[in-house]
Amino acid sequence: MEYLEKISEYARHIPDRKAVVTDNGVEMTYGQLQAASEAIASFIEELSTKKGLDPHVPIPVYGHKNPLMIATFVGCLKSGHPYVPIDQHSVPLERAVGIIGQIGTTIVFDLSSEDEQSGASALQAAVDSSDVTFVDYTAVADLACNEEHRSSNPEHWVTGEDLAYILFTSGSTGTPKGVQVTSDCFDNFCRWALTLGSDAAPRDGAIYLNQAPFSFDLSVYELAQSLAAGGTLFCLTKASQDDARLMLESLGASHATIWVSTPSFAELCLANPEFNSDLLPCCKVFLFCGEALRNTTAARLQERFPEGVIVNSYGPTESTVAVTATVVSPAMAAAAEPLHCGVPRSGTRIVIARDEEGLAEAPVGELGEIVIVGDTVAKGYFGRDDLTSKVFSETELNGKAVRAYRTGDEGFLDEEGNLHCRGRIDLQVKLNGFRIELGEIEQNLVEFPDVKEAAVVMVTKENGAAHLEAHVVSAGERTESDFREGLALKNRLKEILPHYMIPKKVVFHDALPMTPNGKLDRKALANKG
Ligand code: AMP
Repeated sequence: MEYLEKISEYARHIPDRKAVVTDNGVEMTYGQLQAASEAIASFIEELSTKKGLDPHVPIPVYGHKNPLMIATFVGCLKSGHPYVPIDQHSVPLERAVGIIGQIGTTIVFDLSSEDEQSGASALQAAVDSSDVTFVDYTAVADLACNEEHRSSNPEHWVTGEDLAYILFTSGSTGTPKGVQVTSDCFDNFCRWALTLGSDAAPRDGAIYLNQAPFSFDLSVYELAQSLAAGGTLFCLTKASQDDARLMLESLGASHATIWVSTPSFAELCLANPEFNSDLLPCCKVFLFCGEALRNTTAARLQERFPEGVIVNSYGPTESTVAVTATVVSPAMAAAAEPLHCGVPRSGTRIVIARDEEGLAEAPVGELGEIVIVGDTVAKGYFGRDDLTSKVFSETELNGKAVRAYRTGDEGFLDEEGNLHCRGRIDLQVKLNGFRIELGEIEQNLVEFPDVKEAAVVMVTKENGAAHLEAHVVSAGERTESDFREGLALKNRLKEILPHYMIPKKVVFHDALPMTPNGKLDRKALANKG
């Protein structure tokens, strides 16, 4: 894996350069990252041999924005195992346990114990299997200091079509689905991502801002690039993101040269007039992905950071972060037309499919489903051949066998080959940058015995603010007021689903509205909000 080779090279040549820094003062140099990841790799190899595990079994890594978490990711890759990042703050306990259960692994790195003793023991208590070996924070910290016992045999590393990581995203059938990204996908993505905006900010010595939790593929954008470039990853922790003043201080202290976030996060920052080039004088490149970047957001950013280069990129987790990109000029930001997402990277082709099944292409300018074909398309969903065969297929590009992925996004290509993304053809939504399958919330609601039917819609106000609303038909008699009953349902959902999937409002109905042809009338519900 090219990525691991590069990390080893930096550990040899610039061992004292900081590889990871968090805004609460924890740091790790390239030398320390190398030592820790080799010790962790050696430990995993021994433990998995002792337990008789498959050499490529995925390993969940639970915790929040800690350098040791990153050392564990690298350690997994060096021992031939893909890692499964689970952020303790954005993934509720029950969901984390479900993911660990789906993976079926018997080694779990639980790094949540450093600052949240209760969280750590809660995970371990909640996983109902005596076969699982938990490796906790203290054990990993001890390993990181182990000078003797290290594995540095590149023959053991993940490579080619081996999986590098599995990221769980919202699944419409009610449970999250694990996207399997290979070592080659990772390297191919990384090589391209390093070129984005590279004229404006040199990558050597770059400081990358990390906003997204490691459970989201946006975090791969900066994590992969940063370590592949010998840069420093500056992690914004949840504690600072929850407090506007602290966050501003953390941003200022980051000295970031490359910004990576969702457009929603940038909008949040722009609400504060102190967010400008005085706060981040070295920040020259702004990389966006994960949702539509609004013209107004780009224009405001250009005003606050006159020397900043803004890159709008597009791609789902299933194609390894991003596959198309464009630099947003001031003229593009000022135009009435929504921003396009640029041209595909070499190694990727965008096909606009005109029908639901095959890859028959729509002509330039015509709307269709966006299909991504190329060498960063993931290897399907973990343990879900049924879901995989619905949206992934095998094909050829430039004489090479590659995979294709039907995104469920609607869009078109213009004369210059730029991709214009125009929304979804299904019930997936993006709320504040978070990918949500409305079907997953609905499925969890109808699994409550007191709920007969449920529909969840996203309501967008005129000022652009959006929220989720659940529309529910109760099963049997109700004794509480709508408000109390709604609150109780939300509280039960909170135990299962991440915070961003909890509807703001619950509305009770005797029956859900139907269209004249007997389908659920989602538009009527969205307009009621
Ligand atoms: P995720 O897997 O969380 O990265 O979400 C992927 C989805 O986010 C895509 O399928 C699109 O619906 C949406 N998306 C990502 N990037 C963009 C973009 N630049 N413009 C519009 N939508 C985007």
